[in-house]
Amino acid sequence: MRLAEQLDNLTTTLNDALIQLDDLKKTVARLNAENERLRKEVQAAHLKAVEMPSPENKQVEINDTLLQLFNEGYHICPTCFGQMRDGECILCHGFLFHEQ
Ligand SMILES: [Zn+2]
Repeated sequence: MRLAEQLDNLTTTLNDALIQLDDLKKTVARLNAENERLRKEVQAAHLKAVEMPSPENKQVEINDTLLQLFNEGYHICPTCFGQMRDGECILCHGFLFHEQ
């Protein structure tokens, strides 16, 4: 292969890589924004659950939301609320059983 062809091929490869990198950056930015939005949602739900004594059916609904968040892998304990759990968390378990 001639040197000029090799350079052309390398240029194409690098350009493709740059396009992929750009896509990845966009995906990361989108996921970060989504993560931030979900974190705020979770925190708002937590504040509601903690600060607003509600009628019993409302409380059950909030407990369901917390349980759902817990099952989706988020902390629901006050210490790490809204962060992804890495394995089991004894505080979350305590909080969950205390709430129910
Ligand atoms: Zn926890």
